[in-house]
Amino acid sequence: MAKDNLPRVVVIGSGWVGLYSLSVVSPRLTSAYTPLLASAACSLFPFSCAEESIRAKGRRCNLIKANAIEIDFCSNQILCEPAFDDHDSNASDQQFRVAYDRLIICPGCQTNDFGIPGVVEHAMFMKHVSDAMALRKKLLDQFERASLPCTTREDACDMLHIAIVGGGPTGVEITAELSDLARRELKDLYPDVAPSMRITIYDVAPHILGAYDQKLYEYATEQMLQRGIEIVTNAVIERVDRTNLYIKGQNPVPYGILLWVAGNRSIPLVDKLDVKKPEHGLIRILTDDSLRVKKASTDVHGHSDVYPDVFALGDAADIEGRSLPTTAEVAVQKAKYIVRRLNRGATATENFAYADKRLVTYIGSHDGIIEGSGLDEASRGQRAWLDWRSGSFTWTRTWRNWVGLICAYVLNALFGRDFMRL
Ligand SMILES: Cc1cc2nc3c(=O)[nH]c(=O)nc-3n(C[C@H](O)[C@H](O)[C@H](O)COP(=O)(O)OP(=O)(O)OC[C@H]3O[C@@H](n4cnc5c(N)ncnc54)[C@H](O)[C@@H]3O)c2cc1C
Repeated sequence: MAKDNLPRVVVIGSGWVGLYSLSVVSPRLTSAYTPLLASAACSLFPFSCAEESIRAKGRRCNLIKANAIEIDFCSNQILCEPAFDDHDSNASDQQFRVAYDRLIICPGCQTNDFGIPGVVEHAMFMKHVSDAMALRKKLLDQFERASLPCTTREDACDMLHIAIVGGGPTGVEITAELSDLARRELKDLYPDVAPSMRITIYDVAPHILGAYDQKLYEYATEQMLQRGIEIVTNAVIERVDRTNLYIKGQNPVPYGILLWVAGNRSIPLVDKLDVKKPEHGLIRILTDDSLRVKKASTDVHGHSDVYPDVFALGDAADIEGRSLPTTAEVAVQKAKYIVRRLNRGATATENFAYADKRLVTYIGSHDGIIEGSGLDEASRGQRAWLDWRSGSFTWTRTWRNWVGLICAYVLNALFGRDFMRL
């Protein structure tokens, strides 16, 4: 117990889940609204609208800027390492422990590079606001480079080839935003080189948007192809270097920007934890229906098979026997459940129930698809786009960001997107 006799609730991670809680161990000072990252990278609104500070006026939150390295469930302690870019080399000398009475584990996942050589070194990712900023800067640089008098037309084509690896909703939405940007602002800002820009989606599967019904993914594919986006399926990427993608059975493909959004893999903390995990697929922490972490082995003395005061949620966790998707929607619903549960005290018996939300993906040009709403006209087209765009306002959690978004949309309508300023 803490000095004031209140239980110490410690949260590992400051993503969609961590934002809902009291004290946080996280290497980041902000929590990203990931669904808004692609739009921010393409200057639909300022980057500040796509994230939330953990420390904020009026929010009682003890932020510890560190990575959780290990958890000792017997002594209720977390081993942590400071997380500062300029102290990485001796961070391990400064390890410290944080005690908890109740622990909420939500460190998310990392992007899966599948161990393909060159991906970590040369690809860009899209997980944090810093990634969205890096993409915008790279895009600007590539257009300026392509516009130099010494750049040949052929080189400009390679520089402006944007290769997106991963044809899930994230890859498709980034493609959609980039193609909107190209058709509007980039066409005016770089009239000579903008026609050389190409976007290609690569996916190892036989089609993109695998989570959708066949008619919907076929519709999305057809619409994007008509808008000049290239889609290469059954693409087995063998390696990547600074300028080329090497796909099995094909000639090297030159690229200017390589964006890797090919799915999730577990983080080292979750890999190391001695708790119950699924036998196949993504390594996640298994919990019971109340989100309490399951022990690795069954207790022969008939003791509880869960840690009663340790909860896990977000992308890093799943309820045993359920297989819920790794989405912000699931993370937010679980976080709200945990807050309700902790506020009501230990007697709470209600289980977590996931209210299935429709999956909406933007495919560009004010067009989109909605899974789970049948295959009628309402499940695609402008209505889906409106559904998706209005979602931007529901993701934000503060008035400041909400007002920021409205102002950005009004300014864009009046003056166009502010693409040139980072
Ligand atoms: C580009 C993009 C678009 C998306 N769009 C949608 C969408 O439209 N709808 C939807 O429902 N979902 C969407 N998602 C998925 C959604 O972002 C995730 O499901 C959600 O972020 C999961 O929340 P989380 O809190 O578990 O993890 P994260 O949000 O990943 O947060 C984890 C946090 O833990 C921190 N951390 C990591 N390791 C440690 C450690 N060892 N110690 C302490 N802290 C640690 C990380 O730095 C991070 O701050 C999108 C994802 C991406 C990448």
